Amino acid sequence: MTALIDDFQRAVRYVRISVTDRCDFRCVYCMSEEMTFLPREQVLTLEELALVARAFTELGVEKIRLTGGEPLVRRGITDLVDEIGRLDGLRDFTMTTNGAGLGKHARSLRQGGLDRLNVSLDSLDPERFRRLTRTGNLQRVIDGIRAAQDAGFERIKLNAVILKGRNDDEVLDLVDFARRERLDISFIEEMPLGDVSDHSRGETYCSSDEVQRLIETRYTLIPTTESTLGPSRYFCMPGSQSRVGFISPHSHNFCATCNRVRVTVEGRLLLCLGNEHSVDLRSVMRRYPGDIEPLKERIIAAMPLKPERHHFSTDGDVQVVRFMNMTGG
Ligand code: SAM
Ligand code: SF4
Repeated sequence: MTALIDDFQRAVRYVRISVTDRCDFRCVYCMSEEMTFLPREQVLTLEELALVARAFTELGVEKIRLTGGEPLVRRGITDLVDEIGRLDGLRDFTMTTNGAGLGKHARSLRQGGLDRLNVSLDSLDPERFRRLTRTGNLQRVIDGIRAAQDAGFERIKLNAVILKGRNDDEVLDLVDFARRERLDISFIEEMPLGDVSDHSRGETYCSSDEVQRLIETRYTLIPTTESTLGPSRYFCMPGSQSRVGFISPHSHNFCATCNRVRVTVEGRLLLCLGNEHSVDLRSVMRRYPGDIEPLKERIIAAMPLKPERHHFSTDGDVQVVRFMNMTGG
């Protein structure tokens, strides 16, 4: 039973928590080249992050995803995972990562109770990978994925943001890689979050339907009814365990079934990725340190703020000034 029901009768069962705004990459669709990060005192402490996670599970949330920024650059991340991994009522505990830190951390994460991993991977060409991430090393990410498999993570999912003219020619290679390595893969439409300096979003927009058509030139995609409580629509392919997912905030609006909220790195509870409706959880935690009841009350009181839908458009306008690393993708 969840205590969190919004005004459109949607039950909130899934929270994404951003544990840092910092990152060792500077992906072109996510950050600008020069970023200013938050002063430490504005960022939730590990204790506050753990309290937020416990408050949500006590209110009926069953799925928690840690994200960022890059969660694996947050000092103490494995301690936080240990703590959250022990919470009663948590059915699915996941992390989205760029994969570069998995060589170092995969084993501790698995031992700490993390169930699943999403690893972002937009190109299999080392040069292009470097250009898209501005700093990333492809081999390190691939080694990280293998380290995670060795540590016992199953059904690792790749996330690929496809940009026209940048990496849309790699869609089939990415699917082949996923099949070979026994990974799932989701293709994500670029969202207009933050004003990135690298490209105009109207020009690079590539719809999920276009990506799907490309894949279908080589493979048959069979729709599945499976759900991971997330926004992906999944397909399977004959002769392969790998699933292909599409996350399509533009072309297939998924707001009607939205069961998610987000907590930003500053402790703002965001009721919708595409809107500014939010409440401040940090101030409650700092006024009543370690006391979970006022925090739970604030979360319950925020539910009527969850808007019916977002209004992203594909013309490249920036509608939300937050960068994705602040929000947690
Ligand atoms: N650093 C981790 C990573 O890259 O997986 C976690 C945070 S990142 C913000 C989460 C996901 O958001 C990544 O899969 C990334 O590709 C995606 N993302 C970032 N900016 C985006 C944008 N403007 N539109 C769509 N997806 C975006
Ligand atoms: Fe960092 Fe992830 Fe954003 Fe890339 S998408 S810059 S890895 S937070």
